[in-house]
Amino acid sequence: MNISIKKNKPNMQKENQAEKSNNPAKSLNFIEAIIEEDLKNKKNDGRVHTRFPPEPNGYLHIGHAKSICLNFGLAKKYNGLCNLRFDDTNPTKEEEEYVNSIIEDIRWLGFDWDNRLYYASDYFDQLYEWSLKLIRDGKAYVDDQPSEVISEQKGTPTRPGIKSPYRNRPVDENLDLFVRMKNGEFPDGLRVLRAKIDMASPNMHLRDPILYRIMHTSHHRTGDKWCIYPMYDWAHGQSDYIERITHSICTLEFEIHRPLYDWFLDQIVKEGEYRPRQYEFARLNLSFTVISKRKLLELVRDGYIDGWDDPRMPSISGLRRRGYTPESIRNFANRVGVAKRDNVIDVALLEHSVREDLNKRSNRVMAVLRPLKVTITNYPDDQVEEMDAINNPEDESQGKRKMPFSRVVYIEKNDFMEDPPKKFFRLAPGREVRLKFAYIIKCEEVVKDPSTGEVIELKCTYDPETKSGSSHSNKKVKGTLHWVSANHAIDAEVRLYDRLFVKNTPDNVEEGEDFKTYLNPDSLEVLTAKLEPSLKNARPGDMFQFERIGYFCVDTKHTTENKLVFNRTVPLRDTWAKISKSL
Ligand code: ATP
Ligand code: MG
Repeated sequence: MNISIKKNKPNMQKENQAEKSNNPAKSLNFIEAIIEEDLKNKKNDGRVHTRFPPEPNGYLHIGHAKSICLNFGLAKKYNGLCNLRFDDTNPTKEEEEYVNSIIEDIRWLGFDWDNRLYYASDYFDQLYEWSLKLIRDGKAYVDDQPSEVISEQKGTPTRPGIKSPYRNRPVDENLDLFVRMKNGEFPDGLRVLRAKIDMASPNMHLRDPILYRIMHTSHHRTGDKWCIYPMYDWAHGQSDYIERITHSICTLEFEIHRPLYDWFLDQIVKEGEYRPRQYEFARLNLSFTVISKRKLLELVRDGYIDGWDDPRMPSISGLRRRGYTPESIRNFANRVGVAKRDNVIDVALLEHSVREDLNKRSNRVMAVLRPLKVTITNYPDDQVEEMDAINNPEDESQGKRKMPFSRVVYIEKNDFMEDPPKKFFRLAPGREVRLKFAYIIKCEEVVKDPSTGEVIELKCTYDPETKSGSSHSNKKVKGTLHWVSANHAIDAEVRLYDRLFVKNTPDNVEEGEDFKTYLNPDSLEVLTAKLEPSLKNARPGDMFQFERIGYFCVDTKHTTENKLVFNRTVPLRDTWAKISKSL
């Protein structure tokens, strides 16, 4: 694969502006350009009809999301239709669980196929009929050779293949054998049906490709009706044809299959009649991310992560559990655009998209992840004040809430340094900071654990004149910290996720290397945090900005009546920007 890595941080500001200004001159992607040309020429009676064709052999991932946004997005833009079609031609790998998850994920992303939910298996009868036609036309034959021999005979791109000794079998014999294959008279693998095209073609896919193989396996929809199953290539274009798809969009690796796609259609579509066309675009690759169902399945199966919906997974269900919104994923897909060449997109762009969306929609709250006790020695022991806290400075309609303030509060451990460098504007001995929405405090004394020397408490004083919002004092300090009142705080488990891989291109390892070598051993850190009491009403799926820390959501899997679990969606800033440049 020809991979070029986008090294620089994406120029988000510029892109945002382009999106916001709704610039009509914004150039079309190459598929839109094709569609507009087709519409101009009244091709396909001016219809635009696309489809998203997942194979139900795994959960959808962010790469699929791009394809979904493209296919459904084009249909929407051009007043057309987009079908959902399961490409369920291989019963050994496919499961109902995957079908259900795929339906759920596409709906969640915000797309709808009305009543156009199809399965390639709906067309097994028709495909079988067309195979009989091919045989009668002398364009297909039953081959009795084992599959290893068939693949050996395929040759190489520069060396022609060897013709099968069964290639010139009489039509009647082919028909008889194929019907008997279908009737279950032969065991798995004994015979196959092949198209008779060209064993010397420079395109290997045209060297008499297999159309059907024998598999005595139950199918999730057709049960035991069939024991022969069509190959992907034989099913795909014909399914497009049946559904009257106009633009059959797939990823680049299928470019080389296109002549075969067209050859099959040539056999069943009359000259001048409607026919679908295949277009290829570059699949999405993301830095620090593996996007391949086979590899993701391996991580799930071998227990490297907590299932398909582990928040570190690039699966749609993982991203959802992580706190990504459908809008953020759709915006990401739009920004990435539609390329003709393979490339690797910086995962920071995905993280930027969710940050941007959550900034608008999530309320701010205070949570202290690594608590350090602060006793405010001149604050009355029995006093509690209710401080006014703003819920979302980006959205005034979200209003305010009350935050209790009392003599003992927690601040973040790393907001204190005993011996700070010059530019450290947080708390240090003798220094002052503001506790947000409360008072300015001054650090008077540092209490340490006598055995370890660790700082375990700060004794501070507060200035009663500096209450937030009051006009008594115009005292200014450089640092403002978040905090929670110790007596009022609630405990929660907080899961800090980091990238699952430490390598920029884990999908692209050397021959013989295992991609799992590059798993990030520190991709999950679990903490017990102290949260402001308003969060006791948080429900699974709720999203918040923890002030100064990042975006978090209530975990939908592990949260119970008695235990709140938060997932970190993203930190407030891209902490990897510096590191990834040096990799
Ligand atoms: P994988 O390579 O992860 O196993 P796949 O291509 O086998 O994926 P399918 O279920 O066949 O998975 O894919 C359904 C559709 O999604 C296809 O049209 C495919 O081209 C598209 N698709 C899959 N991966 C990506 C990706 N990374 N970027 C864009 N589109 C993708
Ligand atoms: Mg596929």
